[in-house]
Amino acid sequence: MINRRDFTSALGAGLAASVLPGRSWAAPYRGPNVIIVRFGGGVRRLDTIEPDTTYAPYLLNVLAPRGVLIPDLRIDQMEGGNTSHAEGTLNILTGRYEAYRDAGSGLLDDRLEPTEPTLFEYLRNSFDIPSHQALLINGEDRPQEEFFTYGVHGHYGIDFRSEMLSLHRYKLYKLDQILQEGELPEEALEAARTQYSDLINADKRSIVPDQSPEVTAFWQRWRADYGDDGFKNPRGDRLLTELSVRAMRQLQPKLMMINYQDPDYVHWGNASHYTRAISVIDQGLQRLVEAADTTDGYAGSTIFVIVPDCGRDSNGLIDLPYQHHFNTRSAREIWALIFGHGIARGRVMDGVRDQVSIAPTVAALMGLKAERAEGDILSGLAS
Ligand SMILES: [Zn+2]
Repeated sequence: MINRRDFTSALGAGLAASVLPGRSWAAPYRGPNVIIVRFGGGVRRLDTIEPDTTYAPYLLNVLAPRGVLIPDLRIDQMEGGNTSHAEGTLNILTGRYEAYRDAGSGLLDDRLEPTEPTLFEYLRNSFDIPSHQALLINGEDRPQEEFFTYGVHGHYGIDFRSEMLSLHRYKLYKLDQILQEGELPEEALEAARTQYSDLINADKRSIVPDQSPEVTAFWQRWRADYGDDGFKNPRGDRLLTELSVRAMRQLQPKLMMINYQDPDYVHWGNASHYTRAISVIDQGLQRLVEAADTTDGYAGSTIFVIVPDCGRDSNGLIDLPYQHHFNTRSAREIWALIFGHGIARGRVMDGVRDQVSIAPTVAALMGLKAERAEGDILSGLAS
């Protein structure tokens, strides 16, 4: 891994300084805000966009008429490819298949880091946008997704990273504050020290570099509202919705990706965990869209891109139904919905499209070129 210090010494301070973001000639961004909603982790068309069987009525009946539905988006059938959450997310963010590698840890599976630039990096490389306005909103139990904030491709990388809001990040902030304040009894401080070092050890990369002052201020307000005990704040995918709505008001991200994940609990539970989680995301969508429709800086100038990370198996007769790791047809069959500023209403796109077309399409909508993306830019979106 190359950090900024290595990079500077390798190339010489003058050259390194010239590629840092915030440089004076970077253009201010005047395009639409884009909110990418990962309808994860792993949902079937049958349970989301099929009218007779959907658990997401708001998505289908209210949002689809506002935009362009792409009912036959697919994950390409790759040799040895895995239809899963980190993989699908990085397909969406890089516009390429298999543009990732094992980030190595031994503690967690699925710990992938992108090897190609993400949309966040393309955006911050092209426009003068601070890191807190390129935001990832992640689940509390998936610190492995902290790795999505930047890729390791040569010309991009950490200087153009996004920032991350997650319960994992909040806990790091909160424990650091508790230790600095030093007001708790020694026993509680000792417990906080242990917890803090466990979190750091779970993901060393996530705290390099530190979060920006704006994000620190965000956590300060969160702590003031929700306190330290963790019981008051919403949990699971409802937490992601809450973080996202507050982020729109407090940080005004130009590009935000929300990584919903709770339908994946079907791995361990019964089908109702999965279908209930789809309804929770559907309610989250309603809250997000209503917030965007009524918040200054978002109303009338925002595009939503809703897309699953992967599908799920449809064969209900096998021993373990609803899996998604086996590259089966319905695990590769997903969809997308794009609506908002400048997008046609009530249109359904014909034909087969590809998951890796999302990144170059978002880039085009934002006036960027995702030069390393391999997918096609979707045409037929404009109103
Ligand atoms: Zn899964």
